[in-house]
Amino acid sequence: MTDADLRIQLAQANHILFDQGVLDAFGHVSVRSAERADRFLLARNMAPVLVTPADVQEYDLDGITSDPAPSYLERFIHAEIYRARPDVHAVVHSHSASVIPFGLSSTPLQALFHMAGFLVGGVARFEIRDVAGDATDLLVRDAALGAALAATLGDAPFALMRGHGSVAVGASLPLAVYRAVYAEENAALQLRSRHLADVVPLTDGEGRSAAETNAGQVGRAWDMWRRLAARHDGLRAG
Ligand code: MN
Repeated sequence: MTDADLRIQLAQANHILFDQGVLDAFGHVSVRSAERADRFLLARNMAPVLVTPADVQEYDLDGITSDPAPSYLERFIHAEIYRARPDVHAVVHSHSASVIPFGLSSTPLQALFHMAGFLVGGVARFEIRDVAGDATDLLVRDAALGAALAATLGDAPFALMRGHGSVAVGASLPLAVYRAVYAEENAALQLRSRHLADVVPLTDGEGRSAAETNAGQVGRAWDMWRRLAARHDGLRAG
């Protein structure tokens, strides 16, 4: 893929994540440049469902762009994860509702079904008070906070951010989007099953096997999600 292709795919990812209830007016998704590993693509500061390829800006790993349009305050989430993780080619940052409780509690987010097998790889937990004290606005608004979040993420595919949201990463845009959607779905299932006795999560081996299988099936979901998201195309007409 060229970066021109990735701008189109990134706009689609924005629309899908809105349609699937992962993003609302807030949160964002990015992709690493196909042309320069030290660059990434991210929309300007705007609601995800309204993003078009023309709204996509190119950033360096310091979170700097030559585009004068306003940037997302939390672009450093993306910049510092790309710096720390050469294997990561896409990042989703969201405030999706069912995930939030697990960032607040010591109860672990567990992989409860095969579609979320990737969660057995470990869910990181970012506590902003550990690095910036107890009076921040919770936002990852500079490189130091982004680097702390990336360090907390480590090699994991997913990180909880207390009182704020989460980060899902992947080797491609469709995979990162898939993980963001199914982390939210899995969290909702875990909340729904909390009164059941003897809940049995996936074993590490089951999770790894399921994740490997599902990584080859992501295109099926992407194609459907893209078409479903087209119902919102009229929002960008005006
Ligand atoms: Mn945020």
